[in-house]
Amino acid sequence: MIDLRSDTVTKPDEEMREAARDADVGDDVYGEDPTVNRLEAEAADLVGMEDALYVPTGTMGNQVAVRTHTERGQEVLTERESHVVKWELGGMAQLSTLQVRTLDGGERGVPTPEQVREEYVEEDLHRPGTGLLTLENTHNSKGGVAIAPEKIDAAAEAAHDRGVPVHLDGARVMNAAVAHDVPPERMTESVDSVMFCLSKGLGAPVGSILAGSEEFVARARRNRKLFGGGMRQAGVIAGPGRLALENVERLAEDHENARTLAEQLASVEGLTVQDPETNIVLVDTEGTGHEADAFLDSCEEMDVLGTQFDTHVARFCTHWDADRDDVETAAERVGQAVENLD
Ligand SMILES: *Cc1c(COP(=O)(O)O)cnc(C)c1O
Repeated sequence: MIDLRSDTVTKPDEEMREAARDADVGDDVYGEDPTVNRLEAEAADLVGMEDALYVPTGTMGNQVAVRTHTERGQEVLTERESHVVKWELGGMAQLSTLQVRTLDGGERGVPTPEQVREEYVEEDLHRPGTGLLTLENTHNSKGGVAIAPEKIDAAAEAAHDRGVPVHLDGARVMNAAVAHDVPPERMTESVDSVMFCLSKGLGAPVGSILAGSEEFVARARRNRKLFGGGMRQAGVIAGPGRLALENVERLAEDHENARTLAEQLASVEGLTVQDPETNIVLVDTEGTGHEADAFLDSCEEMDVLGTQFDTHVARFCTHWDADRDDVETAAERVGQAVENLD
């Protein structure tokens, strides 16, 4: 089986398993886990922030960030297809009593400064006020597009001009940095906080990072505890997480494999393939006369897994447990799967 559902399906390698076994540990709720402390310092450094917080999942990182930046009842400006709105169970409403105002970020999922200015709400007797802008890079639902740092800067500046802080959902921000060939800290230069996942292309078994100013992270630490994310001897998972930080450059391989996959799939009759910018390949199945779920069932019969993204859109995601040969084999099998559809 070649599993291209997500870059989260990777298994930790020997080195990571050893790092888990050998980690120095302590009670992290007391701030006494040396491995977690090292991970947080190294991660903050990587994204050019003062401090960082280790969280079990990206979703918790985003939700803790949202809670930490806002007051109840405020509005959050966010892109309409963004992960925080679409895939986090309405967490902003459920956990932080916030109201969402969505912006249409177009094909690349990034709002313009004009949109931010237009949708900003000034607090008064009747209006709740805008408490936060969230951005996403790479944008998952748009096919892993790598937003240029200047676009992030422009939207962030429009928010900052009105005193609104900015959180970047950077689950795959390292993919964006590699795609633009800039250091990760350039991608986060103009935002107040960033979440990124160690458990995606970077290959850690568990965990994400939420980074920001010292003052922000101190308050976020309380909210992590509130949301049930205060962990004890977390060094056993932070150890592999530290190794994951060394895997940023390796993401270029995933991007190359995604391009190979896309090129080969584009020659399959009936499939329309979006040019990948990072490790995500979106395939439109409408030309086959079949919906994505039927297409994916047929792929599974051929031992290739992807996920459904829309009625006619399937996603394949490359990662470090799928090498060039796997990707080429997967493309051939998908071609066969399309033939088998009728
Ligand atoms: C995966 C993802 C998350 C959430 O991460 P989990 O660790 O799965 O909770 C958040 N935002 C984006 C853009 C993602 O792709």
